[in-house]
Amino acid sequence: MAENTNRINIRGVYFNNTTLDGTVDALLKGVREKKQTALYTPNSEIVQACIESPELYDVINSAELIIPDGIGVVKAANILGTPFGAGKIAGCEVGEAFIRRLAETDHTVYLLGGKPGVAEQAAQKLSEKYPGIRFAGCRDGYFKKEGEENDAVIAQVNESGADVLFVCLGAPAQEKWIHQNRAKLTTVNAMLGLGGSLDVYAGIVNRAPKIFIKLGLEWFYRLLREPWRFKRMLKLPKFYFGTWKYKITKK
Ligand code: UDP
Repeated sequence: MAENTNRINIRGVYFNNTTLDGTVDALLKGVREKKQTALYTPNSEIVQACIESPELYDVINSAELIIPDGIGVVKAANILGTPFGAGKIAGCEVGEAFIRRLAETDHTVYLLGGKPGVAEQAAQKLSEKYPGIRFAGCRDGYFKKEGEENDAVIAQVNESGADVLFVCLGAPAQEKWIHQNRAKLTTVNAMLGLGGSLDVYAGIVNRAPKIFIKLGLEWFYRLLREPWRFKRMLKLPKFYFGTWKYKITKK
């Protein structure tokens, strides 16, 4: 973890207490000053995964920017008496706001992740919406995350000369990938782990209707749409009740 200013500790993960604009400003600063800045957007599933597999803490806490992309993390902060000023910050909204700002600059973006063709489709849709944006390249996320195949992906990104890399491989695979490979990325100064955001930008997946987001029920909408997530989501009540237990017993 780089600077530990204004962080909120949620069960061992050190989140920035910031805003969407503050996050985008920090990412742009990293690009302008050529200072590698990683953004992770953990939800409570990922914090619970850290609790269950503590080796994951080092990976997650190594990012310069960690924002709460989930109502469970926001509620945990309230329970622990250290609320976030801005509440939940959605990673896909940060990604899009960053693209909007980058469209006013010469900096270039590489989109990595999603099924074949999704990154290209996302680039096309984003270019229509933000005409000045410059994409250095796109690649799907279905490659071996180690060895020669992985080296080839790193080489492609380096050859593209991209300043910014969106890494959309799902959590925590994308955070592990960034952690393992960031030192080998020679031109990238902002790397964002953004889960299924390329599917959203490409128009393949819709975000929950506003009313669900407003009521803090985006997770419920996702569960209705993708019932196979049920098993993953069992981590949510475990995290919620575990946080109360932690508050009371500090264990
Ligand atoms: N994905 C990928 N490579 C993989 C596994 C998944 O690029 O090896 C992509 C997948 O196509 C999807 C995204 O990662 O676009 C995961 O989306 P999800 O909404 O499940 O993200 P999470 O909730 O895990 O952050």
